[in-house]
Amino acid sequence: MTVDVAVVGAGVSGLATAHELARRGYAVAVLERQARSGGNAVSERLGGFLMEHGPSSLNAAAPAAHEISGELGLERQRLDLGKGVRYRYLVRDGALRRLAAHPFGLLTSGYLSPKSRLRVLTEPWIRARPKHDEETVAQFWGRRFGAEFADRVIDPLTGGIFGSEAERTSMAAIFPTILALERRYGSVTAGVLRRLLGGGTMPGNKLFSWRDGVGALPAALTGRLGPALRTSVAVRRVTRHGGAFRIDSGGAGVLDAAAVVIATQAHVAARLVETVDACAAEAAGAIESPPQAVIFLGYEQGRLGHPLDAMGYLSAKAEGRPLAGALFCSTMFADRAPAGHVALAGYVGGARNRELALGPPAALVALAQSEFRDLLGVTGDPVVARVRQWPRGLPQYGLGHGMRVAALRALEARAPGLFVTGNYFAGPAVAICVAEARETADRVDRHLTGRAGARPAVARG
Ligand SMILES: Cc1cc2nc3c(=O)[nH]c(=O)nc-3n(C[C@H](O)[C@H](O)[C@H](O)COP(=O)(O)OP(=O)(O)OC[C@H]3O[C@@H](n4cnc5c(N)ncnc54)[C@H](O)[C@@H]3O)c2cc1C
Repeated sequence: MTVDVAVVGAGVSGLATAHELARRGYAVAVLERQARSGGNAVSERLGGFLMEHGPSSLNAAAPAAHEISGELGLERQRLDLGKGVRYRYLVRDGALRRLAAHPFGLLTSGYLSPKSRLRVLTEPWIRARPKHDEETVAQFWGRRFGAEFADRVIDPLTGGIFGSEAERTSMAAIFPTILALERRYGSVTAGVLRRLLGGGTMPGNKLFSWRDGVGALPAALTGRLGPALRTSVAVRRVTRHGGAFRIDSGGAGVLDAAAVVIATQAHVAARLVETVDACAAEAAGAIESPPQAVIFLGYEQGRLGHPLDAMGYLSAKAEGRPLAGALFCSTMFADRAPAGHVALAGYVGGARNRELALGPPAALVALAQSEFRDLLGVTGDPVVARVRQWPRGLPQYGLGHGMRVAALRALEARAPGLFVTGNYFAGPAVAICVAEARETADRVDRHLTGRAGARPAVARG
């Protein structure tokens, strides 16, 4: 069988790339190793609860998230963050500290020491660093806002959102817009204030989902792709044949394509591009994704001694807790728990605590129960408990990540027609994966248009 484009992997990245190319009229085939599509975007109803095994919200500030929601007819079931999200919580000295949700909430609460708050206020007077060696997240924030801010505010964010350690993560790779503020305005505070005064929002301020959870996105994309998606097909080898490619899936057959998009996790991409470009394979192989576990617990509301008036809480590494943090799922979005119940999700693993994430599920449930007893005053047992373990969780954007991305991009010049996309290029967030997928579809389109000198003959709408 021959198609215009073969897409390997049906997570959000592969599905969104294929959808965009199909929309432009290309004959596409998507090959997925598992029996279901969606990769780690999995939402599951358990009784009246909705569990998010992977992503639980999208960043509304990213235009691609809005656009795809509209295009797929998902706007009708869109949910914005619930009105119950009024504060932020961080753990300090074994207890939850409440912070106002506004940008200056950190300064008006007692979470940081008076000395640290004063140091934060001096940030506009800290001289900008001339461009030279790449900094870690911990170095950048420590230099600009002081060590306590880096350890107590940025470390929990990096651990909770990216599953990463601030002292091993590249600032340029995960906070490029913040770095750009320093370069442009000489200060992060000055840059943020100008952005707010200009009518902009704080990064990450607006999140949304859909009634059926984030899994509604891959489900809608899967529906649009129809028979173009083939599940339970594990691609083993991609080889070049003249100007085209042969995709070998062992017993599941062979497919020929004018272009191939590899939209798998980085370690699989490393294996698949090995036969074509050793340099790109080495770059992808160097991107690790430590294990991560999500522990979902549903309780009767009366069992909690906390109002759950936030999205959740995060813990700094210095607290030595097994969970990086937890989400208050039933506060974040409507319809996540049946009446009279609440839903919580604890996160374990990532670079901070990799061994723990793959431990026995019962032990993980016990860990989360014990932490929720401690921090949220939960009494008694949950009515629902479910654990999802991801042997490879979020990709790590370590120092040198920019060079690895450049090596992967160079693959497209060295092997025209072979493309790589996914959550290890511009950021792991679903909305960024969608934006990345669309850019990848643009590059595939340019390649095929240039090759054939014309757009595809079959317009599939
Ligand atoms: C626990 C967790 C929580 C998260 N929370 C959020 C959140 O709240 N908000 C947010 O925006 N993001 C979140 N993320 C990140 C986001 O979910 C991911 O970055 C994104 O879904 C990745 O999509 P992807 O398609 O790039 O990769 P994946 O979802 O990993 O998809 C890759 C696909 O390739 C397939 N594949 C692998 N090998 C082969 C092969 N040989 N042949 C064929 N197919 C193959 C896999 O089976 C898989 O389906 C979270 C991630 C995790 C793990």
